[in-house]
Amino acid sequence: MSGDTTGQPQDDCLFCKIVAGEIPATLVRETETTVAFRDINPQAPTHVLVIPKAHHKDAAALAAADPALTADVLRETAAVAEQEQLESYRTVFNTGAGAGQTVWHAHAHVIGGRGLQWPPG
Ligand code: 5GP
Ligand code: ZN
Repeated sequence: MSGDTTGQPQDDCLFCKIVAGEIPATLVRETETTVAFRDINPQAPTHVLVIPKAHHKDAAALAAADPALTADVLRETAAVAEQEQLESYRTVFNTGAGAGQTVWHAHAHVIGGRGLQWPPG
């Protein structure tokens, strides 16, 4: 598990490899500090992941280590929604295995393009 909150690329991290271009992804947007790409297993017509380029293991670690970068990620979720012309959408940070986190590099899911139920499962 890429558990270190160092901000440095982790050799065993899938999303660090996407940032480095070592694993292909369908890019939606890119900024100096973030990348947005389509989820490989979409749960809705639009399902985009927004990640910081720097490695942090989850949203809590990211927020603690780098508030400005956290804001960059959140701002980009809104930019993705606008670009994808989503009137309504959900921004999700799964944090911890019990909440469904499977990749240990902080990421926001931007999900939309269909009706979404509340409460979530
Ligand atoms: P989590 O379950 O950690 O909140 O979200 C990880 C997400 O990454 C999942 O929705 C999963 O489908 C997506 N994912 C896993 N591997 C890849 C990959 O190689 N490429 C892309 N684009 N998405 C991936
Ligand atoms: Zn990483």
